[in-house]
Amino acid sequence: MEKENKVYDTSAHSWRFTESAPLPTGKWRFPKPVLDEKAKEEKARLSREEKQLLHEKLQRRQRVEEELQRRMKQFPPGKAPPDKQLRKEVIREDRLARAEERHVKNVQMALHVLNKRYPDRKYELGEITEKCTIFEYGSAYCHYNFTACSPTSDDLFCFAEVDANLENENDVYQCCTIGSGPDGYCMGCQNQRVAVTHPSRDMFIGGQESFGGFETDSKSDPDY
Ligand SMILES: [Zn+2]
Repeated sequence: MEKENKVYDTSAHSWRFTESAPLPTGKWRFPKPVLDEKAKEEKARLSREEKQLLHEKLQRRQRVEEELQRRMKQFPPGKAPPDKQLRKEVIREDRLARAEERHVKNVQMALHVLNKRYPDRKYELGEITEKCTIFEYGSAYCHYNFTACSPTSDDLFCFAEVDANLENENDVYQCCTIGSGPDGYCMGCQNQRVAVTHPSRDMFIGGQESFGGFETDSKSDPDY
């Protein structure tokens, strides 16, 4: 049995060490939090996302600066509009171009889902004919109409609903062809006067009639 290093001191009515405790040596640091595997993964993911965002921000800034310089050169010396005005235009156009890229990416993901369903038809994106972003109940959805072309099969006219913050194929909520059935009513697209053709109401989530929400305007939103 180990030697007891504490005794009860009756005069002080408390326990005390028989030998003084050794003082810690070296530089004291905050102990590192003990993270389990899941928390570690989450932390790494967040850090990756932060880096990615920063990277995108820097890229955007560089693109805007380059475009700004290019445009300035098109004016005769002293005739260029104020830098502020030109910059505003460039930023706005850049934002719209990014939103456009994002829509194409979303539809490509919907096509990927379609191709998984019909692996031998090898559909490719024909044209995105309508697009609309809907915000409701803290979620954002995009509705699309597009044509899917296949070298071995007839072209399809499709509807897709995806999460506006799409990351992977699980965020494609619907991708289907538009048949001859009745067009489901979508308040989201209707409010924005976008003529998306929808499948029947039970085939998509966003744009519910019960949502009496706010007017959304895809043109005024910074990202869409
Ligand atoms: Zn819609």
